[in-house]
Amino acid sequence: PHEHSIKVVVRVRPLLERELEKSPECLVDIDTDKSIVLRPGGDLLKARKYREAQRFMFSKCLWSYDRRANVPYADQNTVFTEVGLEMLENTLNGYNSCVIAYGQTGSGKTYTMMGSDEEDGLIPMVCRQLFKRLNQQVDSKIQVKVSFIEIYQENVFDLLGRGNKLRVRENSERVAFIENLNEYNVSDSQETMRLLNKGLENRTTAETHLNKQSSRSHSILTVTVSQEKFDPATGSLVKLKSNLKLVDLAGSEKFVASDGLDKIRQQEGSRINKSLVTLGRVLTILSEKPNQKTVVPYRDSILTWLLKDNIGGNSKTSMIACVSPIDYDETLSTLRFATTTSKIENQVLINKESQF
Ligand code: ADP
Repeated sequence: PHEHSIKVVVRVRPLLERELEKSPECLVDIDTDKSIVLRPGGDLLKARKYREAQRFMFSKCLWSYDRRANVPYADQNTVFTEVGLEMLENTLNGYNSCVIAYGQTGSGKTYTMMGSDEEDGLIPMVCRQLFKRLNQQVDSKIQVKVSFIEIYQENVFDLLGRGNKLRVRENSERVAFIENLNEYNVSDSQETMRLLNKGLENRTTAETHLNKQSSRSHSILTVTVSQEKFDPATGSLVKLKSNLKLVDLAGSEKFVASDGLDKIRQQEGSRINKSLVTLGRVLTILSEKPNQKTVVPYRDSILTWLLKDNIGGNSKTSMIACVSPIDYDETLSTLRFATTTSKIENQVLINKESQF
């Protein structure tokens, strides 16, 4: 295996229509494409909570706040070029890969991953390019499967199924899997997008009927690619199998406010936090260079259990940390979380089986 650190990219979203009216102060700045500065705003200064401006370094800092002269504007294509393209290559070459969108609610996770009505995000672009590339491979047998789940209050729901809860189990190799999960064979990107949209629709329906809030749930789209092709290097047939997970996390803000929430909401908040809090703990432990004896609490939450390979294991993983330009505390917390994540080394292997 070779080492591969988790690549972290930060994206600053523009002001929203409703925010523009108040013309709030932008608290972040990108001074190079690898460095972002966060300044405490006027309100914090007034409240005498003065803190120094802080600089954070990442693989890439994407500026989608405004179009200004000295910083290139990052549109959806930029995100695809910076993150998607590499993941696509990884998948085609037999590596497991994963893209995780992290950030507070409203920071642009869904916009980045899915896109809007006008503009496709990373997932549709990756799907389209994946099939384009696979179709160019003549003389190879290819199978692509997708599944789409939601984790809500530590329960797993199949977004392509009938909405019932599913159980997570471990196989004999101690790899977590979801029992009775629907996996669909797909042969082009339209079919994949149809399934994805059906899943998103199911998610919205459940949101209204069961009073769920999608900003509090995590979604994972898994695309599994199996290829059987001739390998000119060895003169033999090679079988590659890799999966690409596209993860949209629940909002990272603190869910339980100190006042005025009823008990159910509090319980919901603490359960939702369990996956995110465990993710934070797992990432912190891994960033501190664990040894063989270190216990990493993957099994303490459904999210970390299912993403075990992708965090610290056999996967090329990227995180897109989405930040709002006007929320000092949440942005600081996201940039710190992203910094921790960038220190993690995964151990990556091509998943191949040679036949002679
Ligand atoms: P999240 O998924 O993190 O809760 P959303 O993706 O829903 O956040 O984004 C919140 C709002 O901001 C949406 O209206 C979205 O269209 C808009 N938005 C986010 N990022 C961008 C961007 N880079 N460019 C334009 N609009 C954006």
